[in-house]
Amino acid sequence: MVKKGNYNIDKTLNNLALKKETPKSAFILLMLLYAIAAFLTMRASTTQGFVSFAGTQIRFASFAGVFSMLGNICIICLVVLFRRVGYIVSMIILVLQFPMMTVNVFVRGNIHAISGFFSNILIIGAISIIHFSYRKILNYQKNIREQAVTDRITGLPNRFACGELIADLQKRGGKFALVSIDLNDFKSINDTMGHDTGDEVLRVVSQRWMDMANNNKTDTVDFVARNSGDEFMLVISEFDTVSTVEKTITAYKDELEKKITIDDCDYFLTACFGYTLFPEDSDVIENLYLFSDAALHELKKTGSGSRILRFSPDVLNTEKTLEIERKIRSALNSDKIFFHLQPQYGIDHSLRGFEALARLKDDDGSYISPADFIPVAEKTGLVDRIDMRVFELAMDFLDNVSKETGSDVTLSVNVSVRHLMKNNFIENIKNIIASHNIAPERIEIEITESIMIDSAEKALQRIDEIKSMGMKVAIDDFGTGYSSLSYLKDFPSDMLKIDKSFIDQMNLSESSRQYVAMIISIGHILDLKVISEGVESADQVDVLKNIGCDYIQGFVWGKPMPPEEAGKLVKESVGK
Ligand code: C2E
Ligand code: MG
Ligand code: MG
Repeated sequence: MVKKGNYNIDKTLNNLALKKETPKSAFILLMLLYAIAAFLTMRASTTQGFVSFAGTQIRFASFAGVFSMLGNICIICLVVLFRRVGYIVSMIILVLQFPMMTVNVFVRGNIHAISGFFSNILIIGAISIIHFSYRKILNYQKNIREQAVTDRITGLPNRFACGELIADLQKRGGKFALVSIDLNDFKSINDTMGHDTGDEVLRVVSQRWMDMANNNKTDTVDFVARNSGDEFMLVISEFDTVSTVEKTITAYKDELEKKITIDDCDYFLTACFGYTLFPEDSDVIENLYLFSDAALHELKKTGSGSRILRFSPDVLNTEKTLEIERKIRSALNSDKIFFHLQPQYGIDHSLRGFEALARLKDDDGSYISPADFIPVAEKTGLVDRIDMRVFELAMDFLDNVSKETGSDVTLSVNVSVRHLMKNNFIENIKNIIASHNIAPERIEIEITESIMIDSAEKALQRIDEIKSMGMKVAIDDFGTGYSSLSYLKDFPSDMLKIDKSFIDQMNLSESSRQYVAMIISIGHILDLKVISEGVESADQVDVLKNIGCDYIQGFVWGKPMPPEEAGKLVKESVGK
């Protein structure tokens, strides 16, 4: 374990500022120069005779003024460069000279020394004026400097201060970890409880982390800073192994996750922590920021909850994206995109239908997650083909299962916003429906909530067209896109799908439970049905039942499954 001594963040900032000041060697040099000048002044004033300079005879004693001036310049430099210490040392030197001068003038009768006597009084006056007016300016500068390195809301050091520390650590050549932190769903606190509450939450989090860093609560030396909004940075140094770094990050994570109570409301925060190591991952500072952010975004991309990830080149994704694009193209061309079906149930556990979810297998037979391949498909425009392939396979399934069992289960399919906006979208689905014998009201199109914010006008027109064909519309991942109620009111949908992140939080606090209850009430007021996604436990089902949720989709009652298994489920549900 590393000894941290009396480390704290304020001291670190002060030390960083001090490093920018004049080096101590300059102090010693000035003192030396002053001693030489004083010695030469004394020698010149007591030496009789002349020196010959450019044909003129000059008295030795006249050089005393030149050397004395040199001495005075050293004194002024000491005061200007070393402030309080320089002023005190200069005063001591000057005052101590008075007894010697008095002896020189009045006892030894060296009348030339009287000018030194007055010169000392004048220089004392001059350095006192310099010192006291300079102090005012310095206090002002200190205030400004403190503001420049401190975050106004939380009192933590800011990004600039963090940058200074990193530059210093880099110069010293030790190893350190840079951690990018982003609170999960913080925006929902701001949006639901207001910015004042949001700021208070940030202050509580900052205070907890500041205490951790200042009070030796980890085995490492830590420096925490606020970047902006709900983003923080942590710099960890003095560690032996990567596992020590992870242990420290976990300690910060655990501290964050303890309950926060503000105005009688409990909040449970989580965050993602992406980190990178200097110099192992890179010895270029710009890269470190990029790498820790990339690790953080990788975590954010793959869902909510607290997690920790170290940067790896994979995270930068360019090569990975190209590889995935190749796999999607090859799967589309050889008809290897397939689908699974996840059952959706009424709250009484009766089968409502299924959501069709695209699946893609890697060369080694393992699954590639839709969270990885759907974003790539969206970027490369391949998502239309995936959507249509899944739609077609899902309609085949529905057609067959209806013929076999007579069941009228529904089928939900996901449609990317990008695809929905294309002019041929409606024609594409019309063609597929026309080749199957399915009542359109058994088909539900899932559209993510983001569409209501990004492209509401055009989306409304498309959704009207879908509705006029008789199909249903569900708003997927509801609650993550921060759309306003007015959009929701005008949006001709049939179903709200509450995002898994809310269900995850629901049983952790009363406020989260009320939040879900509120979404359900709003849905019902707007005459929509509500389904909860990602329900994993019986406790969650109980709560959802109590607060009036209509449907359940989640691992608790059924994971996504191959169509054959889904077919069996339908048969069981109709008693065949
Ligand atoms: P989504 O539409 O919100 O689908 C629900 C996702 O949550 C599915 O992940 C499902 O497996 C997962 N899930 C459901 N219940 C639980 C649970 O209890 N616990 C946990 N941990 N997870 C649960 P999946 O299949 O990985 O799909 C991820 C996303 O990819 C989908 O989110 C959807 O946005 C997209 N996607 C999937 N298939 C398609 C498609 O054919 N077209 C388009 N455009 N997007 C698709
Ligand atoms: Mg969906
Ligand atoms: Mg969803």
